[in-house]
Amino acid sequence: MKTVPTIVVAAILLASLPSGLSAEEAEVPIIEETSQEIIESLTENIQALRLSSLASELSSIELGAMSDDQFSVLLSEINSLPEIEGTSTGEVGAEYDIILQPGHYKRKTGATGAQGARVSEQRIVAYIVSHAAKKLKDEQFNVLVVPADGVSSPLKAKVFLSVHADGNAKGCVVGPSLAYKDTSSLHAMHAVGFSLARAFGYEYDDFMKDGYTANSAKYYMYPKVNADIMSGLLEIGELTCPEIEDKLIETSPVIASNLAASLRYIVTLPSSEN
Ligand SMILES: [Zn+2]
Repeated sequence: MKTVPTIVVAAILLASLPSGLSAEEAEVPIIEETSQEIIESLTENIQALRLSSLASELSSIELGAMSDDQFSVLLSEINSLPEIEGTSTGEVGAEYDIILQPGHYKRKTGATGAQGARVSEQRIVAYIVSHAAKKLKDEQFNVLVVPADGVSSPLKAKVFLSVHADGNAKGCVVGPSLAYKDTSSLHAMHAVGFSLARAFGYEYDDFMKDGYTANSAKYYMYPKVNADIMSGLLEIGELTCPEIEDKLIETSPVIASNLAASLRYIVTLPSSEN
């Protein structure tokens, strides 16, 4: 990849920003179409993932199976989540297995994230990351959770993933998406998409037809983390769509466990298969 001096990139970005948007807001990519390389590698990767150990570890939500009481308990758990254990800005020189970033985490001003009717983006993605990180730490993986700002750099890891949820003024227009750094393993990216599709009870190819997109796109964190296998940004869905917001809340425990399963699968794969 060609390197462009940072100052030039910053100048271009700032020059093209609509007023009132900070540089970081503008750097959260909006993925509108699936990249050709993701489409071309789909069939082969679906076959491999269906036969992999990952497939048997994934769960699906049974929509409507949750009672109103269970839903309110879960909702208050999401909205009252304490700080995620082990959150830090990271240590330069350390080698992490997995670095996770809940979108906008700990940010109080500027791009603080989307707001749904019941939960904020910061809360729901922090819930998902917190549960996924705990699972992986319990399995002895070296996991770091970083906030949105002040992260040390460069950090080193096998995998970096930032988890966001969308908001849109029009409502109900954007599906889940995955933005990945162009040096990432396509198999790893498909594994994340596959596990998210399963959480919602979809087959991965149907999930893609239903609006899930993946594309190589930039994110402000990518230059701060050297990740051997993949660097990605997952958007789980749109909180400003009431129907989707409820579905995301109900599915969030399963998204967390499937995400943990896909990350475990990715970091333990022999490097020839990534
Ligand atoms: Zn976000």
